[in-house]
Amino acid sequence: MTMQVGDPGAHAGAIAVAVAGLERAFDGQLVRPGAAAYDVLRRVWNGSIDRHPAVIARCASVADVIAAVRVGRETDVPIAVRGGGHSFPGLSVCDDGVVIDLGVMKDIRVDASAGRVHAQAGVLLGELDRATQACGQAVPLGSVSHTGIAGLTLGGGFGWLMRRLGLTIDQVVAMNVVTADGELLRASETDDPDLFWGLRGGGGNFGIVTDFEYRLQPVGPTVLSGLLLWPQEDGVEVVRFYRDWAREAPDELTTALVLRRAPALDIIPSDLHGRPVVGVASCWSGELDRGEAVLEPMRRFGSHGVDLVSRRPYLEHQAFLDPSFPPGIWIHSKAADVNALTDAVVDVLLTHAARIGSDRSGIIAWQLGGAVARVGELETPFGSRQSGYLVDIVGATDGPSGFERERTWARDTWASLGPHRAGVYMNWLMDEGQERVREAYGAERYARLQVVKRRYDPENVFRLNQNVLPA
Ligand SMILES: Cc1cc2nc3c(=O)[nH]c(=O)nc-3n(C[C@H](O)[C@H](O)[C@H](O)COP(=O)(O)OP(=O)(O)OC[C@H]3O[C@@H](n4cnc5c(N)ncnc54)[C@H](O)[C@@H]3O)c2cc1C
Repeated sequence: MTMQVGDPGAHAGAIAVAVAGLERAFDGQLVRPGAAAYDVLRRVWNGSIDRHPAVIARCASVADVIAAVRVGRETDVPIAVRGGGHSFPGLSVCDDGVVIDLGVMKDIRVDASAGRVHAQAGVLLGELDRATQACGQAVPLGSVSHTGIAGLTLGGGFGWLMRRLGLTIDQVVAMNVVTADGELLRASETDDPDLFWGLRGGGGNFGIVTDFEYRLQPVGPTVLSGLLLWPQEDGVEVVRFYRDWAREAPDELTTALVLRRAPALDIIPSDLHGRPVVGVASCWSGELDRGEAVLEPMRRFGSHGVDLVSRRPYLEHQAFLDPSFPPGIWIHSKAADVNALTDAVVDVLLTHAARIGSDRSGIIAWQLGGAVARVGELETPFGSRQSGYLVDIVGATDGPSGFERERTWARDTWASLGPHRAGVYMNWLMDEGQERVREAYGAERYARLQVVKRRYDPENVFRLNQNVLPA
């Protein structure tokens, strides 16, 4: 049965039918407005998102996911799919629709002898890292431990191991997917290979992934990592030295340039708290003595540097950015790739960084290259393989106060990057329209995604994402 969503009466009727349908066959929890957990479960990581779904379907099993997809489709009620809830624009929650929440599906099975790990779609990065590090292994994941593996993997997944081991998608072996017609498929190089291609960067457009199988790689358990900080007065010299040093660095090193006000954390000298700083964050995951030699020139640069680099457990490193991005902060992201940190790009970034108003806002530029760039540009939908840096300009505050100012700052900074922008990472987009989605993929990859979309979701059931329109 398909109902007309444009008519409020019909929509309410469709919701009632959908909920009744779920109540008949659902092992997990159905959370509706008024339930004690509703206001907690409808919130996502970005505190500025405030939506009210008709029901949150907390799936306990793959059968629940299939039931929820079928009911949503039959009633034509909007479906949002939630993994870790970290989508910047809050795409994993909707008004007046069904949220298919995978957050309790957290099974992880490490098979060290086969070099594989299976993880369900509700697993968070820190949970997967803990399970794999127990046997000295890891999957290259992202940089904040409470992010969901599902959305991160489906968008590409960059992080501290990427120059050595590639993106998260480069270690995916297979995925189980519930498609728009409620069918469960396995996608891999040999099973539904077009779907497998689309899922490695194309986001949630083609179905709901219920579990991922990744290759494991030996990592740590100790890495050489952390932050180097300088006052922003030294910015031009620091950044120029950094870009030349980083360009020559071996693949075991992944770095990011950070421009922000120094947060008032115990590990940062108090005279820097609140002051604009230039930071170089790095993670060396190779042989440690060699890493000391590689990092030494950057650590010794200038006379005002603060050195927070040390040997530490990989697990600790994976959580070191967590305090900067707690759940509930209000955030507006404007992202762009650049080919290089040219003098002109550095000038734009430093000029605008000096105008940051909030201790939560900042600019982070992740150095690509290495293993990321060695995978062919058309082998996956991820559009930034040959970019030099992924730049994210984040306007953020603890709540509504001052948010508008920071959002304007982020937009202005991004606009000033104008001619230097060379693509964008899909997972960093806000709700910015079709043109930006196409920009993220580039014409050729986008066209191929459209063909996959037409085959697996021709009616665009899965549209609350960075949407690819069916060909
Ligand atoms: C604090 C923070 C740090 C970040 N750091 C990094 C980083 O280091 N590296 C990086 O690559 N990215 C990073 N990101 C971006 C991140 O990858 C995306 O926000 C990603 O979408 C989050 O995944 P999630 O499952 O938590 O999000 P959700 O909001 O749950 O989902 C995001 C999107 O994926 C869809 N989706 C979720 N689960 C499924 C599923 N099982 N099947 C199909 N579709 C699904 C949703 O419908 C939604 O469209 C970061 C984001 C935040 C907020």
